Amino acid sequence: MGTIYGSDAFRRHAQWQIDCADVFLAVHAEAGLSLCRCGRLHPCDERLYWLRMREHYARLLDEAVQQGSAATGQPEPDRQPPSQPS
Ligand SMILES: [Zn+2]
Repeated sequence: MGTIYGSDAFRRHAQWQIDCADVFLAVHAEAGLSLCRCGRLHPCDERLYWLRMREHYARLLDEAVQQGSAATGQPEPDRQPPSQPS
């Protein structure tokens, strides 16, 4: 915790970017004959851009989730050796 990547605001932002990317990737899907639905060659520049954006934010979101679960996760198990009978 303590970093911007671990904040709820960042997670919402990253998820929003991923949702946007999914919309644009659907718009710029292959229509067939190696053409994008926008009429350019597939994959078009827009598709490549949103693929990179999605990958970027998905990775950051994954790291943020890991940080969040580490902060709220279970405490370390007791690593003390069992007490010896004396
Ligand atoms: Zn396109």
